[in-house]
Amino acid sequence: MKFTLIDDFLFMSRILCKQCQRPIIACICNFTCRIDNPTAVLVLQHPSEVKQTKGTVALLSRSLSHCQVLVGENFSQHDELNTILANNQALLLYPNAQAQVLSLTNNGLNSTHTSHNKQSQQPKLLIILDGTWKKAYRMFMLSSNLQALEQVCLPDTLANKGQYLIRKVAKKNALSSLEACCFALALLENELVEKKLNETECRETALNQSVDCGIYQELLTKFAQFNQFQLSFRT
Ligand SMILES: [Zn+2]
Repeated sequence: MKFTLIDDFLFMSRILCKQCQRPIIACICNFTCRIDNPTAVLVLQHPSEVKQTKGTVALLSRSLSHCQVLVGENFSQHDELNTILANNQALLLYPNAQAQVLSLTNNGLNSTHTSHNKQSQQPKLLIILDGTWKKAYRMFMLSSNLQALEQVCLPDTLANKGQYLIRKVAKKNALSSLEACCFALALLENELVEKKLNETECRETALNQSVDCGIYQELLTKFAQFNQFQLSFRT
């Protein structure tokens, strides 16, 4: 039997990586790392994102040691989620009008987290919604249990500094789920430090370059490489 280059390519594109289950030529394993995140993460993924191979949740969930993904749209009656909510001190990352803005200079929710109530004894959990803005809005509006959660959002300076070049996103709040999650975790856990810049430089430098996200920085760096890798398929 004689193989042509095209046959070879088709053959290779059908072999799946045993770890990430993607075709070998599109394997994402090199872009993952191992991070032992103290605040657990729960990703609520819209069904339309599941088959989205450019989605960043695969990278996120393979890199964080405490990360779970649930798929759905209306989570109001979702038994597994409701059990999780009953046993964790959950924060929803969602840029709602009443959301508390996580602070860049200190642990944004320190005062809330250290209050002496029963809930503060439970493990911390950060919930993120994975979908387009329209889909995330729909998930939030349909899910009364999510609306009841304490909501947090990123400061504007971080929220508008995404590196996500693959998919069309609005200019404002253009972060991928992965970036938003890393920034939020870094702020909640006091991992995010501003690099030593004077006040003017702070205002003028892109925040991606002027902050260090501590234990989450490696994943953000890998993500930048992942973006370049994805873009290489476009030519
Ligand atoms: Zn792989």
